[in-house]
Amino acid sequence: MEQFLEIKEANPGSLLFYRMGDFYEMFFEDAEIASRALGITLTKRGKHLGDDIPMCGVPVHAANDYLQKLISLGHRVAVCEQQEDPAEAKKRGGKSVVKRGVVRLVTPGTLTEDTLLDAGRNNYLAAVARLRGAAADGSDRFAIAWIDISTGDFRLAETDQLRLSADIARVDPRELLVPDSFFADDALGPFVRELSVAVTPLPGAFFDGSTAGARLAAYFGVNTLDGLGSFSRVELSAAAAALAYVEKTQISERPPLSRPIRESDGAVMLIDAATRANLELTRTLSGERRGSLLAAIDRTVTGAGSRLLAERLSSPSTDPELIERRLDALDHMLKLGRRRTIIREALGASPDLARALSRLSLNRGGPRDLAGIRYGLDAAARLAAVLGEDGAALPDELVSAHAALVDAPHDLAAELMGALADELPLLKRDGGFVRPGYDVDLDTTRALRDESRQVIAGLQATYAVETDIKPLKIKHNNVLGYFIEVPQQYGERLLGADYAGRYIHRQTMAGAMRFITTELADLEAKIASAGDRALAIEQATFDALLAHVVGVSDALRAVAAALAVIDVTAALATLAETDNYARPVVDHSLAFAIKGGRHPVVEQALKREGSVAFVANGCALGARTDGKPGLIWLITGPNMAGKSTFLRQNGLIAILAQIGSYVPAESAHLGIVDRLFSRVGAADDLARGRSTFMVEMVETAAILNQATDRSLVILDEIGRGTATFDGLSIAWAAIEHLHEVNRARGLFATHYHELTALSQRLDRLENATVRVKEWNGDVVFLHEIVAGAADRSYGIQVAKLAGLPASVVARARDVLSHLEETDRKSPAATLIDDLPLFAALVAKPQPVVAEDPLGPALDGLQPDEMTPREALEALYRLKGLR
Ligand code: ADP
Repeated sequence: MEQFLEIKEANPGSLLFYRMGDFYEMFFEDAEIASRALGITLTKRGKHLGDDIPMCGVPVHAANDYLQKLISLGHRVAVCEQQEDPAEAKKRGGKSVVKRGVVRLVTPGTLTEDTLLDAGRNNYLAAVARLRGAAADGSDRFAIAWIDISTGDFRLAETDQLRLSADIARVDPRELLVPDSFFADDALGPFVRELSVAVTPLPGAFFDGSTAGARLAAYFGVNTLDGLGSFSRVELSAAAAALAYVEKTQISERPPLSRPIRESDGAVMLIDAATRANLELTRTLSGERRGSLLAAIDRTVTGAGSRLLAERLSSPSTDPELIERRLDALDHMLKLGRRRTIIREALGASPDLARALSRLSLNRGGPRDLAGIRYGLDAAARLAAVLGEDGAALPDELVSAHAALVDAPHDLAAELMGALADELPLLKRDGGFVRPGYDVDLDTTRALRDESRQVIAGLQATYAVETDIKPLKIKHNNVLGYFIEVPQQYGERLLGADYAGRYIHRQTMAGAMRFITTELADLEAKIASAGDRALAIEQATFDALLAHVVGVSDALRAVAAALAVIDVTAALATLAETDNYARPVVDHSLAFAIKGGRHPVVEQALKREGSVAFVANGCALGARTDGKPGLIWLITGPNMAGKSTFLRQNGLIAILAQIGSYVPAESAHLGIVDRLFSRVGAADDLARGRSTFMVEMVETAAILNQATDRSLVILDEIGRGTATFDGLSIAWAAIEHLHEVNRARGLFATHYHELTALSQRLDRLENATVRVKEWNGDVVFLHEIVAGAADRSYGIQVAKLAGLPASVVARARDVLSHLEETDRKSPAATLIDDLPLFAALVAKPQPVVAEDPLGPALDGLQPDEMTPREALEALYRLKGLR
């Protein structure tokens, strides 16, 4: 208990998994928390200060399942192992207990085991650092560093307070490290508290900018940082904090990380968290992968490929050249035709190289991870051959991937193949993974062990003849080892003088007696020592192979990265082919011209259901023939007509184009989108104590403050969460602001028909509507977007379709015609004539007039009733007010 308490105290904030034999035990409060979380029995063991000690435990062999559950519930776990053989402690005598120590802190952001990880998702640990007043305008600079220790990825980027949330959403870390001072900060405190990721506050020392460079250099074993690249001070601070946390949690092991890659400013399309959620990029609004854009386009066949695709989707590029390179690679894959199938088969057979490598480097790997490296290298060799087959020139993107495969450490594959058996145990301590014939010494030792086993099997017959006891058996258990067992009635015979002590009695059971002989004991000792020796040789072999693997880990990581790139490229080519996508043209213009665009997810869903075909729709925003930039489409039309689908499909097409994919359209010409915003009349967020309307306004404010003329803004029915005139006025003003100030490309869907009048005023605003047909009082949706405004909303027809009782529908028609009559006199109809232009307001802000103190003072004077003296005093007082 003394030892436990000491270790517990040194690891605050974690549940302590305290190793005792075949179990990890938890005590006190840990036991109560864990038993509740895991649904396991809470028991008691011993007493502490007179009270029972609550305890629960999980078996070591199943520990990963329990760990996973605890981690997913947001707990951290400190794993405390026995660090010596219990026999050693016994030898020391007295009250000596087995030495124990924490070997690892398990946190959401520092996982490596396959069972704890999602194969298709990166497991990022991110750190955010701040440098006060470091920006040119005196505001704070921020940086974010993110590491996946399960693959070795390490990246850095600078950011600012406005963009921080979008950057965190993009990285989508499992765990976020922040200085604990953030929590006390007026602006950052609420921000970090509201993040949905596990946030770990760390003392400021972790982020110390002055020692950060040295810490980074030390981790990578270099003298100066120059070789690693050039980083700003705030970037170094974030990187050093992330590294220090990795060291803190991994205790004695240092995961091999790639050198930090710095992402330059503006290299990726900024997409904030709300937009990601609305567009359901990697998860649907309900949090599932199924139904998201990622799920719809993911045709990769490896975990690493799936992770890379998810990463590209989260950070679409803003560099037309990079996008072109990826598209060229995709074209090449399309041309490969059947050879692409071979490539995908080879990839499909390759294991997760990066994660196997990481586990091995952390000393957590087993024989199957070594085999993983081997099969990964096999796949690399096959792919290198297929890609280089016809000697034709490869596009740039594939040239470097091909080179990594050609330069792979192929001798390692041969060595691993020679050394590893066909069937492998999970753990190296089980032995039996070295292939027979690989090591002569091992083979002889194993033969000795097996021979002795055979000799023992032979002894049974010898003893039975010698004693004339037919049912005599030789058996084995863990307590006695090998022993002879005979039915009770024969037992006495063996004890008799005939055998002169040859059979030594060990145990009497109900109906049976057990004996051993010195011969058996000798053989058993031989088997045990041969077994130990064989195991030792196997461990040494493992270590040698491990050293070879770790020695070439850079090359292996390059192979893993190349396999992922090839997988993603081949997968996107397959998608383009099966779903009939087109190559987009992406450049620095402000164009947004899509012909025959489709929604990638809805299209697939309709196809699966086998119902109607998706109706393709074009969209033309962006520079007009008269050279004016930025065009906004205002779309009206009834519910269920397809407005939201159309709005989103254009956002998704822009994203797909900028990750370097073909797009679901006949053709598409897109000028780079620097930021993408999408808002839908928001869902209630009562958990955070905000109304729908408040959320919507906060988000709309973010757009109006941040959108540029290169941005794409998609607004679906903003302003509907309040009274009609309020909502209409806000939507009106927001459109004017986007048109006049942000000058962004935009798509607006609205139910406020009054807004269509704006097109008379705003020269870059166009009205569009979704066609519907009326048929015997019902409405038929044609899902076709055409120019013009909707004539009416068909709300009652839609309600009828939804199955509202006929009496309610009829009554609603009555009410509507009455309302329409009154509406003719409504002020909204004349708005457009009476309101001054928004532009005029923006251009000439009203001067702010300061309150003049002289006015009220003068007002208070009555000259007719003053004496000359009072008048003079008043004059002085007035002068004093100036
Ligand atoms: P709105 O936003 O106008 O209420 P939605 O965009 O939600 O309408 O579309 C309603 C339904 O109509 C969708 O669930 C989809 O099944 C179908 N739909 C939308 N657009 C199309 C289209 N272009 N082709 C075929 N079906 C469509």
